[in-house]
Amino acid sequence: MAKVTVNHVYKIYPAEKGSSVTAVDDVNLEIADREFVVLVGPSGCGKSTTLRMIAGLEEISRGDIYIGERRVNDVAPKDRDIAMVFQNYALYPHMSVFDNMAFGLKLRKYGKAEIKKRVSDAASILGIEELLNRKPKALSGGQRQRVAVGRAIVRQPKVFLFDEPLSNLDAKMRVQMRTEITKLHQRLQATMVYVTHDQIEAMTMGDRIVVMNNGKVQQIDTPLKLYNEPDNLFVAGFLGSPPMNFINGELKQERDAIVFKETKGGTIEVRFADRPRAREFFGKAMLLGIRPEDIELAELSKTGNAAASFPAIVDIVEPMGAETNLYLQTGAHTVVCRSQRALDHRETGHRLQFALNVSKAHLFDPSTTSRIV
Ligand code: ADP
Ligand code: MG
Repeated sequence: MAKVTVNHVYKIYPAEKGSSVTAVDDVNLEIADREFVVLVGPSGCGKSTTLRMIAGLEEISRGDIYIGERRVNDVAPKDRDIAMVFQNYALYPHMSVFDNMAFGLKLRKYGKAEIKKRVSDAASILGIEELLNRKPKALSGGQRQRVAVGRAIVRQPKVFLFDEPLSNLDAKMRVQMRTEITKLHQRLQATMVYVTHDQIEAMTMGDRIVVMNNGKVQQIDTPLKLYNEPDNLFVAGFLGSPPMNFINGELKQERDAIVFKETKGGTIEVRFADRPRAREFFGKAMLLGIRPEDIELAELSKTGNAAASFPAIVDIVEPMGAETNLYLQTGAHTVVCRSQRALDHRETGHRLQFALNVSKAHLFDPSTTSRIV
């Protein structure tokens, strides 16, 4: 197995009238041996291009890529010891499942016995032994995806590369294949780089997550670190559903406390006892970030004195069963609260008291979008 190093890598496409598009902009990654790393970000942010440069399917405009200790910039894809799984499976329609899985091995002149052993081992890992004689058109989406993964497994590559492999599956199958790929990683102990635009896949599958936007890496961290300590507004808003609330306001000094006041007469007011860097921002515009689950009905709030209390009108109630998403009107913003109480539409229009967990509240500088620690 192997680590993967991406060192100041750029992909610059020529565009009309001699201009250019920087699809990947100075990306640096250190992916450890046996690590499962997820690249996540909105469509067009440069995930596939980054992955395809690792695979050797796109030329690198600037920078270096290493697989293990070997610089692979000029190494052909077939010689990089990687296997890639695509969104559209890319199976050969006229070949049986067995032949689809065996194809790459035949090309590389493996012996018949070795091919048979590798294909049946992979088929048993994936639970597709009974499908080996079928053609792809006789398979469901989930089964096709297993064959595509099987084709990668038989190669026993140093690194697996996945580009949105579950995007064509229905929601239920996606959840199932998600756990299967996680199990596969545990079993094979291989290095895996996995691209998705789906933040839930990223959070649930990755040892570490690389969040990208506009060709640039925004933050690289473990799922919980990203969720709890986002570096900037983009990361804070990208992970989490419903997303983090962002509330415009201003910071003021009041005696010993630092007070955030919502703009335009909104009802949210938060007193911070200790935020070392906040003093630099007195009198300036400020964004407060708070996740829906860190707002609760005041009567249920367990955070006691750490909570900031505010009244708001319940605009919309979304019962989720165990929890309830409440869309609140503070006078200046709509704020989403995820209450632990099972409520229904009868609460609509009521003015209730809510509490916000101050220890979970983030401050962002709107001029730089950075989080103020
Ligand atoms: P993602 O996989 O994150 O959705 P891509 O890596 O496919 O994004 O694309 C990143 C950017 O590069 C996009 O803006 C896309 O339009 C651009 N791009 C991709 N391929 C080409 C190409 N062959 N020529 C010009 N621009 C391209
Ligand atoms: Mg893509």
